[in-house]
Amino acid sequence: MERREFLKLTKLGLLMGAAMPLAGAGFMSQNGHVKDFLLIKRDTFDLLDSVPNLNQDRKQDIILIGKEYENLKKLFNRLVQIQNIAGYGHFNVISFDEALKLARNNSKIGSFTKEDLELSEKLFNEKGDTFGFYGEKVVSELTADVTKNETKKIPYTGHFLYKGKAEEMYKKIQKDMGEGVILTSGVRGVVKQMYLFINKTIKLEGNLSVASRSLAPPGYSFHSVGDFDVGKVGFGAKNFSSEFANTDEFKRLMDLGYIKIRYPEGNPYGVRFEPWHIKVV
Ligand SMILES: [Zn+2]
Repeated sequence: MERREFLKLTKLGLLMGAAMPLAGAGFMSQNGHVKDFLLIKRDTFDLLDSVPNLNQDRKQDIILIGKEYENLKKLFNRLVQIQNIAGYGHFNVISFDEALKLARNNSKIGSFTKEDLELSEKLFNEKGDTFGFYGEKVVSELTADVTKNETKKIPYTGHFLYKGKAEEMYKKIQKDMGEGVILTSGVRGVVKQMYLFINKTIKLEGNLSVASRSLAPPGYSFHSVGDFDVGKVGFGAKNFSSEFANTDEFKRLMDLGYIKIRYPEGNPYGVRFEPWHIKVV
């Protein structure tokens, strides 16, 4: 389904949902998880079943509403401020504890509130399949650190790679492909992944499930353990769209055997196809 079409449906669903009772704390989903997020189940989509190409799974979408959604936006603002202070590059690998400390020591940001901490823990500890993400969890602790001497900053990219296999693979890609291909996202710590996941969720008006179909929730990203993304120099945001799969650079990467796609088209993990993602681990 086209993204635009789905967003339209989401909005329609929300309008319909507004007139319906909302489930609160302790809501039990079909897969048996008791959720303490304030959320609504997309039963409203039952009403839209006649729409062609509607993915059946989307009836179960988890959406943050009300106070939880407001708290999500507050947490995101705090992360934005932390990124501004830490810098784009360093924020990619900042640990949760370091982020807390940075916020606490900066009067413009201020300490994380109880709500910020609870929500961070909840987002990290919630099982991915609650949202509709079926990949494996690769980081077990919210406070997990990216070990500095295991990573290397890649010049001119603002990104890091793990030394060893990832760095070597990137060097080989550069050698084979020339300067037209560049690292677009490397090592991402838990905080960076949380930032990206919340950013996506806010763009989707609180829909954690749609967010998790295009981005791994914090703790589930293989970027935390070695994978990285590459793109075509000068292609900008299109590097993270299906258009990348139409570029000569992508075709060449495929021919050379670099692209062993983590989430192929029609993958069972509930995640979109990502032709720019290089699987290392
Ligand atoms: Zn990736």
